[in-house]
Amino acid sequence: MTKRIAVLGATGSIGRQALEIIDGHPDLEACALAAGSSDLGALAAEHGVEHVQTGGDLTALLDAAVPDVVLNAVVGFAGLPATLWALERGVTLALANKESLVAAGELALAARGRGGGLLLPVDSEHSAAFQCLEGRERETVHSLVLTASGGPFRGRSHDELAGVTRAEALAHPTWSMGPKITIDSATLANKGLELIEAHFLFGLPYELIEVVVHPTSVVHALVRLRDGAALAHLGYPDMRVPISFALTYPERAETPVEPLDFTSGVTLEFEPPDVETFPMLALARDAGGRGSTYPCAYNAANEVAVAAFLAGRLPFLGIAEVVEETLGAVEGTTARTLDELVAADAEARQLAERRAERAAA
Ligand code: NDP
Ligand code: MG
Repeated sequence: MTKRIAVLGATGSIGRQALEIIDGHPDLEACALAAGSSDLGALAAEHGVEHVQTGGDLTALLDAAVPDVVLNAVVGFAGLPATLWALERGVTLALANKESLVAAGELALAARGRGGGLLLPVDSEHSAAFQCLEGRERETVHSLVLTASGGPFRGRSHDELAGVTRAEALAHPTWSMGPKITIDSATLANKGLELIEAHFLFGLPYELIEVVVHPTSVVHALVRLRDGAALAHLGYPDMRVPISFALTYPERAETPVEPLDFTSGVTLEFEPPDVETFPMLALARDAGGRGSTYPCAYNAANEVAVAAFLAGRLPFLGIAEVVEETLGAVEGTTARTLDELVAADAEARQLAERRAERAAA
C-alpha cells in the first residue's frame, strides 16, 4: 500500500535526502511539500506533488493533504504546529525537527497520548536508540549513551575559540547538514538538544542519559542493559539510513548506503565531552532538569544566538553566554497550551535578542 508523506522542510538537507529515499521506493509518495521562504514550484513539478506551502501555518497544508506520515524536517521552533498536528491525530510523525520536542516536550507527549500514533525519531542517535530499545522492558535498561562527534573544535581550549569564524564553525568533520544544526554541533548545543529530546522520546530520567564524544560518528547510540551487556547501533554517518528507517517503518527497506566495512580503517574511540569549554551541554542538562518552560527557553535563546552568530553579530563564545544569561533571567512556568508555550518562547527570544545586542555593542 502506498504511504503518502508530507515532506516539511523539503528544500533542506534532511528534506532533500528524504525525497531521494521516497523516489527510490515504489510504495512511498510525497503528497505535500513545505519550505520557509523558497519557492517550491520546480520541486513540486519534479516530484509530482499537488500540495505545497511556503511559510505560514503548515497545519493548513496538512489538513488539505491528509498524509499518512508527516516528515517534520523544518528547522527550529517553527516546526512545532506540525509536530502537534500529527501527534494529536495519531498520524505517524517522522521527527527530525528536534527543537519542537525540546521546546514542547510535555505538550507533545500529551498530544501523542491522545492521538495514539507513532513517533519515529529521524535524528540519527535517537533512531539508533529507538532500535536498541525496541521490544525491551524498561526495567532491563540500565542507561542510554548518545554519541557526539565533538564538532570541528574538539580539543580546543576556551581561548582558542574566541576568534573562530563562521566558515570554521560550519566545517563539520563527519556530517553534512544545514547551517543551524552545524553551528549547534560546534557548540555542543546539538547534543544538549538531543539529551532533552531523548528524555522525552524514551521517558528516561536525565541521569540515565550519558553523552560521550566519538569522533568518527560510526556508533550512533548505545543502550546499557542491567545484566552488563551493551547494545550499540553502528553505521556510516549518512542520514539516509535513519530517514529511510522512519519512512519505511517497520519494513526497513534497502538504501543506497554501503554496509559498514571493518577492513577499511573504521576506528571506534570514545572520550568524555569537555563540558567546561563547551558549556551548552551542561546548560541543557540543567534546563532539562529544571523542566517546565526552561527547555523552551534554552532552545529559543540558542536559536537567537546562532542566528546572530551566522549574521556576524555575535562571536562564537557569545552563543553560550547569551543562552546562559537568558536561562538566568526567565521565570519557568508550566505551559498548558500551545499559546502559553509560544508566549514563553517569545519572552526568551526577546531576552536573548537584548543580550546578543549588548554583546555585539
Ligand atoms: P536546513 O537548514 O538544511 O533546512 C531547513 C528546512 O526548513 C528548509 O527546507 C527551510 O526552507 C525549512 N524552513 C525553515 N523555516 C521554515 C518555516 N517557518 N516553515 C516551513 N519550513 C521552514 O536544515 P536541516 O535539514 O539540516 O535540518 C532540519 C531539521 O532536522 C532541524 O531541526 C535539524 O536539527 C534536524 N536534523 C538535521 C540533521 C541533518 O543531517 N541535517 C540531522 C538530525 C536532525 P527554506 O529553503 O525556504 O529556507
Ligand atoms: Mg543527531
